[in-house]
Amino acid sequence: SVIAAGSLGSLSEVWGELAQATGAAGRLFELMQEPTYQRDPRECVPMANPVRGAIDIADVHFSYPGAPTQEILQGLSMRVEPGETVALVGPSGSGKSTVFSMLLGFYDVQAGAISVDGADLRLLSQEDLRRNVSIVPQDVTIFATSIFENIAFGRPGATREEVMAAAVKAQAHDFVVNLPSGYDTVVGERGLTLSGGQRQRLAIARAILKDTPILLLDEATASLDAENEFLVQRGLEELMDNRSTIVIAHRLATVLKADRILVMDKGRIVEEGTHATLLRQGGLYTRLAELQFQTDGSYCEQDAA
Ligand code: ADP
Ligand code: MG
Repeated sequence: SVIAAGSLGSLSEVWGELAQATGAAGRLFELMQEPTYQRDPRECVPMANPVRGAIDIADVHFSYPGAPTQEILQGLSMRVEPGETVALVGPSGSGKSTVFSMLLGFYDVQAGAISVDGADLRLLSQEDLRRNVSIVPQDVTIFATSIFENIAFGRPGATREEVMAAAVKAQAHDFVVNLPSGYDTVVGERGLTLSGGQRQRLAIARAILKDTPILLLDEATASLDAENEFLVQRGLEELMDNRSTIVIAHRLATVLKADRILVMDKGRIVEEGTHATLLRQGGLYTRLAELQFQTDGSYCEQDAA
């Protein structure tokens, strides 16, 4: 999706235009502008300093406000240790994206609790939470402005050097400097159209620049050419390094690199382990792996052993 350049004035100004331009909640994730559960600021406690990024989701039940009889999270429990990468896999509709909405404080749980570094999410201010959590969505938002501004969105006020350093780590720098005006090249709508892999690398640079202890990553499903695939994967590795990461994974390469794989079905975790141990169980993960990963060129019997 592409957002008009005029909307870049301030985050609050952006909201109205964004809502019109996108509509889809998934896209607003990245911008952290979704209307949120309101809390009394007197209730807030400060986040741990420094934030270590331990996430604890304990027996959470949740249904969306518009559909109170359909329970989406049905006793979900999972933990992420500081710095750990957890891959979340599961059938479409099992509630994976909903977990991200909950962690961003878009909604409150109906039962159970979510905590970060031991502090209940309900007691943290939105501002604190969003300063410490980054999200890279499936469908990256590109603003109709320069590449520089597109990356700097991750940390307003970032310098040229900071933006470039993030782009280097994200494997974006090389393609950017080869554009007609380098970092000043205008993209989107009235500017240059970027490929899917280039857009993803800009989103990775944005998140590297934001540099939060917690990262939520919804891996894109669209297939990339081999070169982009390789560069995106390297950029992601750089991004995930030293952060607590939950990645909704669609590629075998990603699940193989995760510290742990959690398999979600109907709003709860049903299997947990490594790729090899899960395949040996012959359960839901095995069926998902057969369906989703078989088109991945890097998959072979050896990986499964
Ligand atoms: P996944 O990411 O695993 O595909 P989601 O978390 O997106 O699953 O969706 C889980 C269920 O919640 C689906 O049945 C979906 O239709 C429903 N759902 C998602 N978002 C909303 C919403 N904003 N309002 C009501 N139902 C929703
Ligand atoms: Mg989803």
